Amino acid sequence: MFAALLLAATSVSAGAIGCGGHHIGARNPGMGNPHYRREYNPDSLDVTAQCTAYNYPPVAAIVKDFPTIWTPATILPTDTAASALFAEFNSTVAPKVANVQVKVGTQGDFSGYQYDNADDPDCWWTKTRCTVPKDNTIAADISRLPEPNTWGFGFDDGPNCSHNALYNFMAENNQKATMFFIGSNVLNWPLQAIRAKTDGHELCIHTWSHSAMTTLTNEAAFAELYYTRQAIKAVTGVTPKCWRPPYGDVDNRIRAIAGFLNLTNVLWSDDTFDWQEGTNNVTAETVVGNYQKVFDKAKAGEYDTYGAIVLNHEINNKTMQHMIDQYPTIKENFKYIVPIASGMNWTTPYVEANETYPNFEQYISGQREGSVVPSGSGNSPGSTLTGSAAAGASSTAAGKPSAGTRNSAAGILVVAGVAAAMLL
Ligand SMILES: [Zn+2]
Repeated sequence: MFAALLLAATSVSAGAIGCGGHHIGARNPGMGNPHYRREYNPDSLDVTAQCTAYNYPPVAAIVKDFPTIWTPATILPTDTAASALFAEFNSTVAPKVANVQVKVGTQGDFSGYQYDNADDPDCWWTKTRCTVPKDNTIAADISRLPEPNTWGFGFDDGPNCSHNALYNFMAENNQKATMFFIGSNVLNWPLQAIRAKTDGHELCIHTWSHSAMTTLTNEAAFAELYYTRQAIKAVTGVTPKCWRPPYGDVDNRIRAIAGFLNLTNVLWSDDTFDWQEGTNNVTAETVVGNYQKVFDKAKAGEYDTYGAIVLNHEINNKTMQHMIDQYPTIKENFKYIVPIASGMNWTTPYVEANETYPNFEQYISGQREGSVVPSGSGNSPGSTLTGSAAAGASSTAAGKPSAGTRNSAAGILVVAGVAAAMLL
């Protein structure tokens, strides 16, 4: 009993650093093996029905090509494409971050780890909130939007099995969001991931197993990002170029790995700590108060020169309901509520550059849907990658992989085609 209480206290203290603590343990039930066959009803609002595991043949056919769901990822011994890409990282980018130590901590809590906060050689956000590395060959993080009086709208930790009420609400309000998806959740709940894409939300990466990235070896961190990217591509057909580290736990070594994989790191300027409700006596009122703090800052003019990126979660019904409840008040206090891609004017948020997204002006003037230019118009994945990388980050680590080409070589595109066909 005492040990349990101690764990809870530790977790909440870790949670103070955002997207943290043990909140993944609070996710909705139903996660698990997809052997139970049922009909998926995309309109169901029944939580139990939504969270009953189902068999989805396109995923069942490829799950062997991925790490075990909800265990820390490593490169599969049989995955020659991933191994070759990681070898390329090792020979090009790894040497320049070789002096960055692997950190020691659990669930984002590094209170026992000694680090030179004053000098902050690793630009380690967890300890110092550093977002701009001194080494300008490593891309800076994004934590706010350039557009004033704007709420950067997104959710971490999905897809959640019982997200239909939230997604219906967003559809009714013609509101798009940025979804930072966990790879294990994508393979557990592929139809929910497909709904996010079909509804026009932007997809980003939130790792495979929600581990604290700075505690992982280069290979493990690479695998966490790589296989989540592969899972999203396989299920939804697009390859994200953005990611968010669990707990915000990122340093220059992790930035270099993500940059090599063509991923821009999106952190946040404000945190609702919505996931904490129910942990350590945190109440719904506390979470509402956290939202109110952001509104108070808006009233005081804080966002007259930039836009907030606010951390929210798709992790359980309570966090999703909070957003539904608070949405009208967000609208009262912010002129615009936009997904990150539109807030950053990222018009090609995926490696597949034939797929476009509305820029800020388009979004706020009512154009909420992206478009897909038929392939075969001359844009090869390799040639579009350079342009899309430039759009996605102001500066990035050297050594961009030809991600699209490698995906094709791995045969993932074929699976994506099956998923897309089932949507029609
Ligand atoms: Zn998270």
